[in-house]
Amino acid sequence: MIRFGPAGIPLQCKGSSTIDGVACCHDLGLDAMEMEFVHGVKLKEESAEEIEKISRKFDISLSSHAPYYINLCSKEDEKIQNSIRHIFESAKITAIAGGRITVFHPGFYQKLSPDEAFSRAKSVLQQIQEKLIQHSIKIVLGAETVGKKSAFGSLEENIRLSEELEMVEPVIDFAHLLARGDYKLKSEDDYRAILEKLEKRLDGYVKHFHSHFSEIAYSEKGERNHLVLGEKNEPPFKPLMKVLAENGYSGTVICESPQIDFDALKMQKEYWRVKKCL
Ligand SMILES: [Zn+2]
Repeated sequence: MIRFGPAGIPLQCKGSSTIDGVACCHDLGLDAMEMEFVHGVKLKEESAEEIEKISRKFDISLSSHAPYYINLCSKEDEKIQNSIRHIFESAKITAIAGGRITVFHPGFYQKLSPDEAFSRAKSVLQQIQEKLIQHSIKIVLGAETVGKKSAFGSLEENIRLSEELEMVEPVIDFAHLLARGDYKLKSEDDYRAILEKLEKRLDGYVKHFHSHFSEIAYSEKGERNHLVLGEKNEPPFKPLMKVLAENGYSGTVICESPQIDFDALKMQKEYWRVKKCL
């Protein structure tokens, strides 16, 4: 079964805390939510403990998005140390809140070759992994497929990171795959090819995958901005819902459109419509 939820507190939610957000997802009939730490990890441990209780009670699966200020490929030690801190803090508080995964954007090539960028990112992630193990923090580090050509983190690169590092898994941002120009996403076959690739390369991944979905505006450089579902139909959500329902895949789809909860509900409705016809 697929869980659906918003990237952040639902727009329809009257309150503004994460706890309010979790309760609101439950009221709306959603079953996941991503906590947005994109401008810094500000959540306190006490609140995270409360969030854990309420998300367990309402069966809302939690994840988080780590700060944007991360570049695992940087040549500057200060930037690397900050990146380590951002991911570590995000992972720690997410684990306390009962979340399974913290998502991050891996970095930028700058003038590095793809191979150099890969080995830098891998070695920093290895350090983060060791630190998390030392602190007994159980979490998945989600390497998101990014939407700009200048950014490190293609689907292939993130699959490789996952193959080589125990705690890392790719997070499929479908809009970014399209905007980066690496994949065309129009038909069911296009989506099926991606999920089959993940199924082949990463054991069990398609039974607990984590993904982001929205429509997207893009140029030849890649991503511009996320769009509401139905605006351009790029990428289209209906063929993805069909592929997910028909193949018995399990995981989470987080909606990153400007209408985070409304569009999450739209996808959920379509998924269950197809599922019931099978
Ligand atoms: Zn992201």
